[in-house]
Amino acid sequence: MDISRSEYQAALEHIVQIALDRNDNVHNLPVVQQNPNYQEEETLLTSKPLPEFGQPLEKTISQVFQTVLNGAPNMNGPRYFGWVMGGTTPASIVGDFLTSIYDLNMAFHQPKDTNAFTIEQLALDMVLDLGHIPRETYPVKLLTPGATASNLVGLLLGRQWVAKKRFNIDIAEEGFCGKTIKVIGGSAHSSVIKAVAVAGIGRGNYVDVSLNERGSKWDLKKLEKILKEQKDGDSEASIVSVGCGEVNTGGSTDDIDKIRLLCTKYDAWLHIDATYGLCARAMPSHAAYAVHIELADSMASDAHKWLNVPYDCGLFYSKHMDMSLEMFAAAKASYLQFGKTIIPQPMDIGIETARRFKALPLYMSLLTYGARGYQELFESNCKFAASLGEWIDLHPDFELLSPVYLHTLLFRVSAKQWTHPGGNEEFIDAVKKTGKAHVSSTMWNGKPAIRGSVNNWRTRLDRDLSIVQQALEEAIRSRMPLKNDFN
Ligand SMILES: *Cc1c(COP(=O)(O)O)cnc(C)c1O
Repeated sequence: MDISRSEYQAALEHIVQIALDRNDNVHNLPVVQQNPNYQEEETLLTSKPLPEFGQPLEKTISQVFQTVLNGAPNMNGPRYFGWVMGGTTPASIVGDFLTSIYDLNMAFHQPKDTNAFTIEQLALDMVLDLGHIPRETYPVKLLTPGATASNLVGLLLGRQWVAKKRFNIDIAEEGFCGKTIKVIGGSAHSSVIKAVAVAGIGRGNYVDVSLNERGSKWDLKKLEKILKEQKDGDSEASIVSVGCGEVNTGGSTDDIDKIRLLCTKYDAWLHIDATYGLCARAMPSHAAYAVHIELADSMASDAHKWLNVPYDCGLFYSKHMDMSLEMFAAAKASYLQFGKTIIPQPMDIGIETARRFKALPLYMSLLTYGARGYQELFESNCKFAASLGEWIDLHPDFELLSPVYLHTLLFRVSAKQWTHPGGNEEFIDAVKKTGKAHVSSTMWNGKPAIRGSVNNWRTRLDRDLSIVQQALEEAIRSRMPLKNDFN
């Protein structure tokens, strides 16, 4: 298994060159292009048995470029606005590399051997600092694979807590014992609905009480009615799940404090998906956004989106250490020892056992850019989204579907040649074909729409706005106007 020092060095130097080239040039590369290495899946899957003997590392690197990396979508470039992608700061890339070089296993907290898991806690605390939430608000802090996983962990803890509180049942030990848990929310992200299924609650037990698609107005009377009926009976209990914010618009309810009071009154757990909200709080301009997210029992967020660190970095916070230990302790005996340190064993408070030191990219990025650096990133992304939104709003061929609250744009193409069934998707493809920008499709008020999410530290108003405008104009013109446009 030995490779020579010089072979390793050559490979590392090659990779360093690639990292530097991408850093200099990613904004000039096509955002997405037709896969130059395209092979039928079947051919690719069947053409490569595990080689009997190995080969020089440099050859492996060049094969990997030929098979997959050459011409790959530049998802961490400045104009990939599809989904909610985020980017990767140079500091976080260096951190990610160091994580692999040291390969510490973060199943364990061993402060006498290494500060690594304490640093994970510290990085999570620093993110709270960034969002102006006192660190002591959430004693349980853990990095997860993503906000989907964090939403799941929140529901698992909520499940455990409400069943104990209402029925004196320990779900982790006994299962549901015939009781029904509901999750009540408003315009929840699809990952919350997925978590409802994975947690065994059942998708049919998700209840939406929002009064509008943005999730900004909730039917609080209906919420209270459900919670009260549950408390008066003895077979149902609820987790209330707030999205902050809604994925197409960034919209969020202003009523978190009222929802909190209802949860407290009727023994419901409050979970908040603060994927956008936690970061938004770093901006004084958005002080009114995401108020009261510190009132949650559990809170999910992401570092691999707006905090611009590599994937595999979700954030999870909760107020209830006892629930985490009951739900996740790998072995009862191990958590009894918790108390000798302030911090529990990571494997006793989360789903995973072996884990990478994923805190390092986040920690290094937070140290390198500081609160001010991140605030500027968020503000600059919001300004970009607002400026593009203004342009779209004034443009005769587009319809802006929502005010721009944050970093997300929601619009529709209204030029006649694009309004036939399927036209929205075709238009998105036409934008993609320009190689200048990427946006995704969504549904809004039952009709196809377009969304763009600006989450990348590289996105620059002075350079990228006009390129995106060109891309949208080019896409409009790539289909001839219909005759009756001139009527
Ligand atoms: C992206 C997103 C999620 C899911 O996060 P992953 O990190 O992709 O698992 C959950 N909620 C919201 C609001 C999101 O935007």
